[in-house]
Amino acid sequence: MPLLHDTPGLPPSVAASNTSLERALREQQTLLDCAGAGIVFIRQRLVVRANPRFAEIFGYPSHHSLSGQGSESLYPNHNAFRELGRAAYPVVSKGQTYRAEHLMRRSNGSLFWGRLTGTLINPQDPAEGSIWIVDDIDVQKKAETELDTALREKQLLFDSAMIGIVFVRERCLTRCNRHFEQMLGYEPGELVGSLSRRCYQSDAQWEAVGRDSRPVLAQGLTFEGEITLRKKDGTSVACEVRGKALDPERPDSGSIWVSLDITARLHAQAELVRVHEKLEQLVQDRTHQLRETVENLHREINDRRIDQERIYWLAHYDPLTGLPNRALLAERSQEAIALARRDQSPLVVIFLDLDHFKHINDSLGHRVGDALLVAIAQRLRAVVREKDTVSRLGGDEFILLLPGANAEGARRVADQWLEASCQPYQIEHHELTMASSMGIALYPEHGADFDSLNQAADVAMYRAKLSGRNTYCFFTPEMRAQSVRALQLENALRRALEREQFTLHYQPQVCIDSGQVIGVEALLRWQHPELGAISPAEFIPVAEDCGQILPIGEWVLRQALTQLQVWCAQGLIVGTMAVNLSAVQFRQTQLPELITRILEEVGVAPNSLELELTEGVAMDDPRTAIAMMDQLHALGIRLSMDDFGTGYSSLSQLKRFPIYKLKIDQSFVRDLEEDANDRAIVSAIIRMAQALGMQTVAEGVETAGQLAFLQQQGCNEVQGYYCGRPMPAAQLQEFLLKNLQKQGD
Ligand code: C2E
Ligand code: MG
Ligand code: MG
Repeated sequence: MPLLHDTPGLPPSVAASNTSLERALREQQTLLDCAGAGIVFIRQRLVVRANPRFAEIFGYPSHHSLSGQGSESLYPNHNAFRELGRAAYPVVSKGQTYRAEHLMRRSNGSLFWGRLTGTLINPQDPAEGSIWIVDDIDVQKKAETELDTALREKQLLFDSAMIGIVFVRERCLTRCNRHFEQMLGYEPGELVGSLSRRCYQSDAQWEAVGRDSRPVLAQGLTFEGEITLRKKDGTSVACEVRGKALDPERPDSGSIWVSLDITARLHAQAELVRVHEKLEQLVQDRTHQLRETVENLHREINDRRIDQERIYWLAHYDPLTGLPNRALLAERSQEAIALARRDQSPLVVIFLDLDHFKHINDSLGHRVGDALLVAIAQRLRAVVREKDTVSRLGGDEFILLLPGANAEGARRVADQWLEASCQPYQIEHHELTMASSMGIALYPEHGADFDSLNQAADVAMYRAKLSGRNTYCFFTPEMRAQSVRALQLENALRRALEREQFTLHYQPQVCIDSGQVIGVEALLRWQHPELGAISPAEFIPVAEDCGQILPIGEWVLRQALTQLQVWCAQGLIVGTMAVNLSAVQFRQTQLPELITRILEEVGVAPNSLELELTEGVAMDDPRTAIAMMDQLHALGIRLSMDDFGTGYSSLSQLKRFPIYKLKIDQSFVRDLEEDANDRAIVSAIIRMAQALGMQTVAEGVETAGQLAFLQQQGCNEVQGYYCGRPMPAAQLQEFLLKNLQKQGD
């Protein structure tokens, strides 16, 4: 303490005598000892006396120890000490009491807040010293500081919070932070004092919030809700609000409300809902698509299954007849053969080829041909057992597989089929008969597997064809070599024309009565470099089978007529040119046009051409055959019936043919001299021809005796080695000249 004075003392003698003074001193001492505040007497900047509380506050072991200590030591530092002096002196010097709070120092050096009250003992004489009362207010001071900090923090929070904070008392806004004002678009302080109604869009809404929140607040709980507040400009702002009573016991103490602008959140939520719905829609669309895809997939799988079944069917069945095809036949045969091997049971393979089926296609068209095949397939199925397989290999070839059947069974089936074949098929308005040739192979004798059995049956079928068709043959090992020959011929035939291996020989036809040559027959000759000379009797059926007969036949016609033209030009009288016409050629619908063209090309009159037909041409479809004959006849071409007597022509049929000449087959002529039967047949044929107004010519006349008989019977012409062999053109020329000379002689 800056103002220090000595305590007034009394001489001991005076004190002893003055008991009242003593009492006063004792009372003073007691006061000092018991005082709750620290008290100190300072004089000359030194502690004169201090009470126990003072020592306690400043942390001295006893108040005695303080006496004589410099008062500056009670302050944090020299400056603080001087500051105090400067502040207190003007006050105390006027006799007033100085009161202030100062930082002070304890004996251990720690600082604390003390409240000082100081006064001079004698304002007139500051040297007498001063008395100071010190209260330790350190704890209180610290609490105040903390409170202050807390309040400041709270204010800061209040001011800078990102939520609106409002104090409401009796529905009146008593305070609010800046954020709340900004949230509702108000200027600072503009809202304070207003009714909270100002922040709502309607009375109803305001009252509803009041009604709902009141009981919650009264219970001391937090009211929570989403409320639409009204901005100053009248627009709305969505808020999440929480309110709580400051003191639930006292509703009039008001409440505090915090509000958070959730517009963005609501937008976000709405956006989320929208996105969610969009997603949902997408998922629905996708599900729909997926369902469609799955359905399509199912459909596709189904289609594919149907396709596969169809593919299987196409791969295993003949589309036209619905019969198993070669592939399925091979499968079934292998199974049947395996079974036959295991059970040591027999098995039959029949190769069936329709006779002259091509004629049907050529003359009546493919539609009729197809319909006929379907009908034949049905009839074939009917003659075999359920367990037998009838398959079509394409074209007019069928294979029958008869598991468990032996030679006898095969014969039975073949006979049945021959019989069934006599019945005509009614296809559209055509009545068609279709014979077939069959080859039969037996397991195990003729082959141990499908291929060899098939081949054997094929070879046997070929033999059946050669033996006149409309029959069947069982396979024999010798047949193999022959069928190899047929194949060889077929291959060689394909190139024979272009390699100019064909020539024509001409055989004279002589009038019996005059001995004059009245015509020649063109006979085809084939000279192959390796195979040698091949007889037309052998290669013509092969050429018919493989279709080569058409170009070959055309070549023969053109060649023979050209030769005739050459002879005529040379002045040679040859008569008619007879050309053999295959049944296959005959069934070509364009045949009349072809012949007309060649005749015109070559410059030969139609009546110089004679076409030799065989009876077979009329066998399958007599009506069409007759129509063709009529057409040819109408062109002025002569028609003759070759090999007459070997075929199936009935007299009634023959009547309807526009035939000019019958050629008596050489098989009847050969044994005329020895065989009475042949003589009877030949004379019957001649008489029949005469009755029908037809000419007769006997083929294969080799002897004078034959000639004599024929002449006697009234036959018109002869053809045979006796009169002249078939010969090349140049040779025939000489023959004709010699013959002319002979006639002349
Ligand atoms: P074809 O039409 O009946 O011809 C008569 C056959 O008898 C000829 O045989 C001929 O050489 C033969 N021949 C003639 N006189 C006698 C004889 O006195 N004694 C004997 N033993 N035979 C005699 P070729 O030339 O071998 O012809 C055989 C068959 O081939 C012909 O029989 C005919 O059906 C056919 N052919 C020949 N050339 C052609 C042709 O250009 N086209 C067609 N489609 N078939 C033809
Ligand atoms: Mg002939
Ligand atoms: Mg003949």
